[in-house]
Amino acid sequence: MQFSDQKITIVKIEQIYDNYNRPIQYLRLAVTDRCNLRCFYCMPEHMQFVPKQELLTYEEMERLASILAPMGVSKIRITGGEPFVRRDLLPFLDRLVNIEGVTQLNITTNGVLTWKYMKQLKEIGVHTLNLSLDTVDKQRFFEITRRDTFDDVIKTLHTALDYGIQLKINAVVMDGKNTDDILPMAELAFKYPVDVRFIEEMPFNGQGRSNDRFKWDYLKIIQTIKDRYPEMERVKDSNHSTSTNYHIPGFKGNVGVIPAFSRTFCGQCNRIRVTALGMLKTCLYDDGVFNLKKLMRNEKDDGEIRQQLIRIFSNRAKDGFEAEEKRAPGKPANESMSTIGG
Ligand code: SAM
Repeated sequence: MQFSDQKITIVKIEQIYDNYNRPIQYLRLAVTDRCNLRCFYCMPEHMQFVPKQELLTYEEMERLASILAPMGVSKIRITGGEPFVRRDLLPFLDRLVNIEGVTQLNITTNGVLTWKYMKQLKEIGVHTLNLSLDTVDKQRFFEITRRDTFDDVIKTLHTALDYGIQLKINAVVMDGKNTDDILPMAELAFKYPVDVRFIEEMPFNGQGRSNDRFKWDYLKIIQTIKDRYPEMERVKDSNHSTSTNYHIPGFKGNVGVIPAFSRTFCGQCNRIRVTALGMLKTCLYDDGVFNLKKLMRNEKDDGEIRQQLIRIFSNRAKDGFEAEEKRAPGKPANESMSTIGG
């Protein structure tokens, strides 16, 4: 009989908690700040991206994930910018899923290029794709994204369904732009086994905050769907879910709202973010609480990085309002989501 000479490593997982006793279990990792769309609510048309050498390398990101996994971070979401515009993404994903303690890998994508890689994503074991799509109308898609790639995004939707990859569709609701899309978007969950979630628009547009938006909070969005489907019923949300979810009888998937601007879910928050530049964020609304790239490039060992992470997690803001208040003076919460890692 042949025995594999592969080393067996047993990693002890010790769940880390923050100062409000919330477990840190979920890492959102931005692999790039670049994007092949220019959604007006996310970034200006002429966006300044950072030089590539300032991005974390795949090796640095893998190292961070390997330090965080034994601390209880078992779920990783790859985001950006658009993850699929960064070269050699797939081998990196394959390495991530093989980190001991990582049990779930998800990706947030705009779907422009994603359909090409669906077979490999299935083989790697990607659990869920979150597909960003704000309208079912091709012309409106162009007006929102400033790019003519609606058909590619729809192709990603169908290809993911063909490969049996779980799909969540995320739509940002923008006053005066796509509120007519709320019902047709919700009805995608009638046609297909997908969950459709509506996100409140946030000020992260890279251009400063505009006051004529933010009229559509989660209550108004849900009421709009309820007016058409009064039989809609509340379903149990998964642990630490940011969305409040509903089922409409006869629909294949659920619909939900994400109160990203109202920030009603912070008490349950188990997530942290690492931006493409290597800044650690313990809240979407903070302005970066620690420069992990600097620490790693100063040749600190894993133990020192772990100690810094423990220190930061024990000083986490209570909620998104406190995190916003603590931002440095003159740095309002209006940077682009593509630099934050959405
Ligand atoms: N490129 C990928 C995508 O499109 O899904 C990942 C990055 S994108 C920044 C992540 C998510 O952030 C998308 O669902 C996008 O709609 C959302 N987003 C961007 N700007 C936003 C804003 N100002 N308010 C709310 N959501 C926003």
